[in-house]
Amino acid sequence: MRLADYTTVRLGGPARGFVRAGTEDELVDAVRTADAAGEPVLILGGGSNLVVSDEGFDGAVIQVATRGVTRDAGPGALTVAAGEEWDAVVARTVAEGLAGLECLSGIPGLAGATPIQNVGAYGQEVAETITRVRVYDRVAGDVLDLPNERCGFAYRTSRFRGSDRFVVLSVTFDLAVQVLSAPVRYAELAAALGVPPGGQVEGAEAREAVIELRQRKGMVIDPADPDTRSVGSFFVNPVLDAPALAAVEAAARARGGPGTRVPRFEVAGSGDGLVKVPAAWLIEQAGFGKGYNPGDGARISAKHTLALVNTGTASTAALLALARQIRDGVRDAFGVSLAPEPVLVGVTL
Ligand SMILES: Cc1cc2nc3c(=O)[nH]c(=O)nc-3n(C[C@H](O)[C@H](O)[C@H](O)COP(=O)(O)OP(=O)(O)OC[C@H]3O[C@@H](n4cnc5c(N)ncnc54)[C@H](O)[C@@H]3O)c2cc1C
Repeated sequence: MRLADYTTVRLGGPARGFVRAGTEDELVDAVRTADAAGEPVLILGGGSNLVVSDEGFDGAVIQVATRGVTRDAGPGALTVAAGEEWDAVVARTVAEGLAGLECLSGIPGLAGATPIQNVGAYGQEVAETITRVRVYDRVAGDVLDLPNERCGFAYRTSRFRGSDRFVVLSVTFDLAVQVLSAPVRYAELAAALGVPPGGQVEGAEAREAVIELRQRKGMVIDPADPDTRSVGSFFVNPVLDAPALAAVEAAARARGGPGTRVPRFEVAGSGDGLVKVPAAWLIEQAGFGKGYNPGDGARISAKHTLALVNTGTASTAALLALARQIRDGVRDAFGVSLAPEPVLVGVTL
């Protein structure tokens, strides 16, 4: 098998071993067996945040295929097996009158991966509603429940990211029991819904609007849309302190004239003046527009500057060469080092 068949960007060489784990016991056993044999392990969900080397993975790929959703821990509580398809979970919560995940509609992948990078979009992130993550701890050899405060959630990261120690078995959310959405914080979504920021609409309406916005940006997987053959956003939005922002503003004015304004978002709860600057804006200002195509099979999406697309003939090496070109261009223009959002397997940027 080739991992390209299991990743949304359709890249990645062969795996030495491949196990599909359909139950929690099978998942834990597969990881235990590989660990006992000293074999490297790659846990595979929907493959929507993975960039795997052209040489593949010299170890055991364990595909999470566990199923089950239970609602027995309270009126808004929902425990979801790691292998459940994420968007189906969101659709179900909206249909059942639960609010808190509707803005995370249309994100590919499986529920078990959502805590890894604290999946977020349109003003919501899973850290706001996760109460507990059930994991297999490969160091202790035990299954344990980690409450939210022990998950180390922050913007696009958690204690699970960059560490192979925990295998997520299930995730418990506590959602508001209401037909209305959570307050819509994201300005673009609020405008699309015709409400002021902080306003509310029916959950189903919010879900529909999010999916429509995402489709326009090529951010909902669609085999008929070549701009969706990607890992979504390739770079995270850099978080800057006041001096770093001032340096970016100076560079932006030098490039674009004295009236140039650098867009930014407050980092919720940071309290110390940290702001997020859209990576897409920095990339565009550095000269890499939508559709930018150096000709090696990898290009920037025609719909979204942050998505790097495999046209069908790319290799992982070509995708990374493009990512490096963009990263270096932004660093030269603004002194900001963009960090990759996907998990890189067997390769570095
Ligand atoms: C078109 C598109 C749009 C996207 N939009 C967004 C977005 O709006 N917001 C956002 O945050 N992300 C977005 N993403 C990224 C991606 O969908 C999410 O990160 C998603 O949660 C990854 O899920 P997955 O099951 O595909 O994980 P995979 O890609 O299979 O794995 C990702 C990482 O998580 C690990 N992992 C997976 N499952 C488990 C588990 N059960 N236990 C332990 N480790 C595990 C893997 O080993 C790997 O390191 C987008 C991706 C695409 C392709």
